[in-house]
Amino acid sequence: MKDVLIIGNGVSAWTAAIIFAQKNIKVRVLSKNDEVFGAQQLSPNGFNCLTKLIDKKIIQKNVEKISQIKITSINQKKFTVLTNFDLESKFNTYSSISRKVLIKLLKDSAKQKKNVKIINEKANFLLKKNASSIQVLTNKGNFFESDLIIGADGQNGICRKYVCGSDKKSLKKIFRLVVEDNKFHMLSKNLLQILLSDKGHFIVYPFNINQKKFVNYVFVPNKNFQEISNSNNIPQYHPLIKVSGWKMSLINKHNEIKKNFLEE
Ligand SMILES: Cc1cc2nc3c(=O)[nH]c(=O)nc-3n(C[C@H](O)[C@H](O)[C@H](O)COP(=O)(O)OP(=O)(O)OC[C@H]3O[C@@H](n4cnc5c(N)ncnc54)[C@H](O)[C@@H]3O)c2cc1C
Repeated sequence: MKDVLIIGNGVSAWTAAIIFAQKNIKVRVLSKNDEVFGAQQLSPNGFNCLTKLIDKKIIQKNVEKISQIKITSINQKKFTVLTNFDLESKFNTYSSISRKVLIKLLKDSAKQKKNVKIINEKANFLLKKNASSIQVLTNKGNFFESDLIIGADGQNGICRKYVCGSDKKSLKKIFRLVVEDNKFHMLSKNLLQILLSDKGHFIVYPFNINQKKFVNYVFVPNKNFQEISNSNNIPQYHPLIKVSGWKMSLINKHNEIKKNFLEE
């Protein structure tokens, strides 16, 4: 195999680009820019894998350490701690990182490879040319072919549809919020929190971008609250988070994003 064509602009696309480039294979990345927000947790294994792609010191500068997993139940306004799991004594590299920063670091690392070419075009269609070859048609009307095409364009991308067909499974709502606030950051410093309520559960953890402090919140409504939950009523489920700006995503039962709503 001499060359590979990667479709996507996320963690998977840039990871694949670096790995193929390290094997001296010619890489072209067809990438469409989308808004990225929030953060990723990095397990010790994930951290070690990243050090094969990005300089370790650069990663260390951009991650936020997580030393404890705290599981709490919320009943009315009463908080009861159920578990306080000490991560630090077992794994010293559990952390979180801004998704935007992570993608930029991976992309910068890929760009440094001479055999990586970035094409800022969106893949619009995959066309079967014959039994063994597929062509990609972009939004600028260009056709691309390659020895291998990698679909890293996400769960709602054209590659998945081409391979698996349309997914008509039922969708469920999930909500996300990022808050830039030192006080909120202090309250969740070094913690991965899971808060269980009768309406659903919250996942909360801190991250930073260039010393600026953020907290990443996810709310997954229970089956009973799927219908009535919306971006405006989430704060009332968590007595402490009285912040607006929740963004809703629709995911299928495998937790795959189908659609993001910036504003409901
Ligand atoms: C609600 C929710 C919360 C999550 N929270 C966490 C979390 O807290 N921690 C964690 O570790 N993980 C979390 N995840 C999982 C994580 O987001 C995914 O595993 C990860 O983003 C997948 O990366 P990816 O590169 O495969 O796809 P994506 O991140 O979806 O990237 C796909 C890329 O392809 C580009 N693209 C799309 N179509 C085209 C096209 N036609 N042509 C060219 N480019 C295209 C898009 O612009 C995008 O940049 C969460 C997922 C969901 C659904």
